[in-house]
Amino acid sequence: MTSDVAVQLVDERLAADLGIVPERLDAGRLRAAYPRRAFVDGWRIPVDCSDGQTRRVDLLIGSAFPAAYPRTALVDRPDDLEWPHVEGDGVMCLLPIHAEVDAGDPAAVAVNLLARSARLIEELLSGDIVERDFREEFLTYWFYGSDFGAPKVRSLLRPGGPSRMVRVWRDRAGAMTVAEDAATLERWLANLSGSPHARKTCRHEPAALVWLPTPPVPADYPIIGADVVTLAATAGPGASGIVEELAAATVDNALVVFGAEGRGGAGLIAVETTVAHRRSGARGGTEHPLTQGFRAAPLPAGVAASRMFSAAPVRRLQVDRADARWIHGRGRDPRLERLIASTVVVIGCGSLGSSVAARLARAGVGRLHLVDNDALAWSNVGRHELGADCVGFNKAKALAERLRREFPHMDVAGHDLGMHVLLSHHERLLIDADLIVAATGSWGAEGALDRWHVATGRNVPIVYGWLEDLALAAHAVTISKTGGCLRCGFGPTGVPLLPALDWPSGRTEHEEPACGNHYQPYGAVELGFAVDLVATTSLNALLERPAESVEHVWLTARANAVAAGATLAETLTRRSNQVPLGGGLVTAPWPKGCEHCTNAINLAA
Ligand SMILES: [Zn+2]
Repeated sequence: MTSDVAVQLVDERLAADLGIVPERLDAGRLRAAYPRRAFVDGWRIPVDCSDGQTRRVDLLIGSAFPAAYPRTALVDRPDDLEWPHVEGDGVMCLLPIHAEVDAGDPAAVAVNLLARSARLIEELLSGDIVERDFREEFLTYWFYGSDFGAPKVRSLLRPGGPSRMVRVWRDRAGAMTVAEDAATLERWLANLSGSPHARKTCRHEPAALVWLPTPPVPADYPIIGADVVTLAATAGPGASGIVEELAAATVDNALVVFGAEGRGGAGLIAVETTVAHRRSGARGGTEHPLTQGFRAAPLPAGVAASRMFSAAPVRRLQVDRADARWIHGRGRDPRLERLIASTVVVIGCGSLGSSVAARLARAGVGRLHLVDNDALAWSNVGRHELGADCVGFNKAKALAERLRREFPHMDVAGHDLGMHVLLSHHERLLIDADLIVAATGSWGAEGALDRWHVATGRNVPIVYGWLEDLALAAHAVTISKTGGCLRCGFGPTGVPLLPALDWPSGRTEHEEPACGNHYQPYGAVELGFAVDLVATTSLNALLERPAESVEHVWLTARANAVAAGATLAETLTRRSNQVPLGGGLVTAPWPKGCEHCTNAINLAA
């Protein structure tokens, strides 16, 4: 349906419903009334309200109508920010931003929207929803009342009480980043810039976070500095004390972040005082307006507060949350507290390990140690998390640097270490971890890790991940405190005893034209399933340690395996009677009782 036809249908329907020809708004009147919007057509409709007044409502359509829904605006309205859901130009917020409407019946959509608008006006007149909605959706109304054009304050703060002193850093353009303490702020900036130097050059100042018992309504929004003190006082004497402490710290402009729980979770807003600009002193030097008249520090706290939070206007700023809880789940993922507090060591940062590490970072694991003693080669680039810009660099260190830049709130360290040096000189890394992920593809390395694991009592679970030929199957084995060790499923030279696939006419390993360099021809896409398997197994092991060692296998569809010359191995079907024909996940018990771990258990007993 074209826009013209849709407009005609709406016009006819309005005339029929209202019994009059509705007033049409031409382009000139639309531009004058709604200069920030791109409405192309509209009608002005009188609505009789229960208080005896008639209020005019505009029905407005944009160029995407009827695919996009029309808007309504209240022409006869109270002052800005007296009614929620009515923007400064009168446009009413009735539908969620991504609401879908029936484009095939534009007249019904228009009439429905008008009816909703009339209902909203009645609710606003009755007053019941005014304060409630201002509070529940306070970030929206703060946005309408904020200083347009001012950069948002970037927040790394944990959004919750109690009120407390925090730190703020201003960049050259005046944009602010606020964090719990100096160390967090400095580390975050160093991670983001990729330069440890940023830690030293960053100058930060005290700021305050005031946690309010309930979100503010527009009447509470600070206009002058003194209003900041009034609003903080609603959070109790502790909050007032914090604001006084901030004033006594005599920073030029004071930043106070306010937080509260709205309907959709915690929200943050910020106010910056603009009072304190240095000016020339009477004797030619500069005097600070906050300390003027007081020769010696300290300035009495009450005096500092009254000068800092004076009659000068404040800037009302929006806050952009950049804290871990927001980034990894918008504050709504209950698993996150556990993950943020977790430490994972990933040994082997090749095609599998590097992508598993990146997944764990995205999931919100708070601390990662990446271990690999290999440099990235051109032949790795096609299926590695890192690309051409990292060729020649140590895989673990380069990946750690990249993840720190992408997730500056995280703690990611890269270690250029082989397994034997790790075990002999850096055992602490392993002992302190909540989970170890091993994806080295080397039996020499993982056999040694398993011996260490068994000898030290298997206190930290290890997830071992590896691929079969052509990446047609992948394994993730979690070795727990009880059940088998890794060795239980491998022969003495590292031959897997429990493959998922057999290769009746030979395996597929290829050799480079160089001595002893074997590789497996598979691509980044086939690898994806293996990454998912090992990352999922790792995440599950972190959230709930499996009671006993267990194996998860990902298997390609049977037809793919057959086409490649492989058959389903009896060693898999024997352990699980649920191997899906179309490919997928199989969970199987991991064998136990090898000589190696049985002896260790006997020794411990
Ligand atoms: Zn064993």
